[in-house]
Amino acid sequence: MSREQLVVQRARKSFQTGKTKLLEHRIHHLRNLLRFVTERRKDIAESVKKDLGKSEHGTELFETLGLEGEIKLAIDKLAEWAAPRPVEKSLLTISDEVFVHPEPLGVVLIIGAWNYPWAVTLQPLVGAIAAGNAAVIKPSEVSCHSAKVMEELLPQYLDKDLYPVVTGGVPETQELLKQRFDHVFYTGSSTVGKLVMEAAARNLTPVTLELGGKSPCYIDKNCDITVACRRITWGKFVNCGQTCIAPDYILCEPSIRSRVLEEIKNCIKEFYTDDPKTFEDYGRIINKQHFKRIMALMEGSAVAIGGDSDESQCYIAPTVLKDVTGESKVMKEEIFGPLLPIITVSGVEEAIQFINEREKALVIYVFSHDNKLIKRVIAETSSGALLANDCLVHFTVSSLPFGGVGNSGMGCYHGRYSFDQLSHLRSCLIKQLKLEGVNSMRYPPHTAKKLSWVCVAWVIVVHGLAADLLAAINVNCPP
Ligand code: NAD
Repeated sequence: MSREQLVVQRARKSFQTGKTKLLEHRIHHLRNLLRFVTERRKDIAESVKKDLGKSEHGTELFETLGLEGEIKLAIDKLAEWAAPRPVEKSLLTISDEVFVHPEPLGVVLIIGAWNYPWAVTLQPLVGAIAAGNAAVIKPSEVSCHSAKVMEELLPQYLDKDLYPVVTGGVPETQELLKQRFDHVFYTGSSTVGKLVMEAAARNLTPVTLELGGKSPCYIDKNCDITVACRRITWGKFVNCGQTCIAPDYILCEPSIRSRVLEEIKNCIKEFYTDDPKTFEDYGRIINKQHFKRIMALMEGSAVAIGGDSDESQCYIAPTVLKDVTGESKVMKEEIFGPLLPIITVSGVEEAIQFINEREKALVIYVFSHDNKLIKRVIAETSSGALLANDCLVHFTVSSLPFGGVGNSGMGCYHGRYSFDQLSHLRSCLIKQLKLEGVNSMRYPPHTAKKLSWVCVAWVIVVHGLAADLLAAINVNCPP
């Protein structure tokens, strides 16, 4: 029996004891997870420093703060989320109990990515624990220092059988995917997302796919270009552009292009100094393979700002590219690095057309003072999210579902959405063994008289007349 098989078997056996159904059990583990993040802040920051060259404050801001917020929210709201949810009644269910009962799915596999190795791996875990599941946690092997710390330290805080950490690369992940899970939660590229979904389909296992893609950013000439460029420069170059929701490219009219370039140049200098290479808040590309991939994307485009690199340190300066078209190499795949191409369009009409000719993105950014224009982009495009006049921050709003659509993914999480995503929302209808006369209408023999009664009842239900009727005859519905 393989290690992966054993781990999953143990998790299932432990889940089957039913202990995760108890809310106290879930709260206890959520508190332990919170304690882990708080007590091991230094270990977490050091691992991310080694993996991505990120500063301690950067890790706190982009990984642990959000994680802590999600855990606290789940602890506060768990009783409400897990409670039966009464639904609207009709004439046919007036004397029944009708509700949705969230129940755990079973054993969930969480496969994380390397770019925010703690946030993208442990945030789904918050939902899995809150919803009462067991979860096998597979951190990315690419961020190897973070994976090692997670494997060593997390079991000191969480039940080892219910929430095991399995490290390893592609063969280990593939071995895990051969096992039967009740849900697979995957974060990573669309290419591997397809393999994950294929493997899950063999067991009819549902999946959440948090993928990537090219998120466009349209700058309307009618906006505060200085502020827009500050926010875009921040959103693009944080974590060296290795952010799934980083603005991938800019679309703007030729009349504002040089102003946009000038503003971004000033911001890069202000945020990262004249020498980002030696500045502690500017990190590194994760490895040589990604360094080479990103450098190759520049071929055929003109460098307007930056362009320096150092392979020995996996360093690529914040770089802006001009003279880019939809056919340029840099527009053929998600950049996932510190290159920002600027493409000119004649206006919002062409920008929408450009966006709609491509795969659906994780997010579309629009910068404009004109609310009508923003609403037009919402109405005429599709993406996982739309954020106007800022970058990245929708990720931090727990009341918004976070996820993609089409090529950028399926399913969503954060806050209550994580809980619902990893629960089965079970329909429950508890009828009374009464009113047999009314119920006899549906039993054989099926006569014309019975049918006409059924039709009347159906018309009342379908046309939503039940509530009016009940109000008219002043019937109080039981809660
Ligand atoms: P990665 O290489 O770390 O892969 C992700 C996971 O998939 C890892 O755990 C890895 O072990 C596993 N994996 C890789 N190849 C596999 C294979 N052939 N079979 C089975 N498992 C395999 O990460 P990546 O794919 O380079 O991540 C970058 C991508 O992730 C980008 O496209 C980015 O946009 C996306 N991303 C999305 C989100 C989101 O929330 N939507 C967050 C972070 C990253």
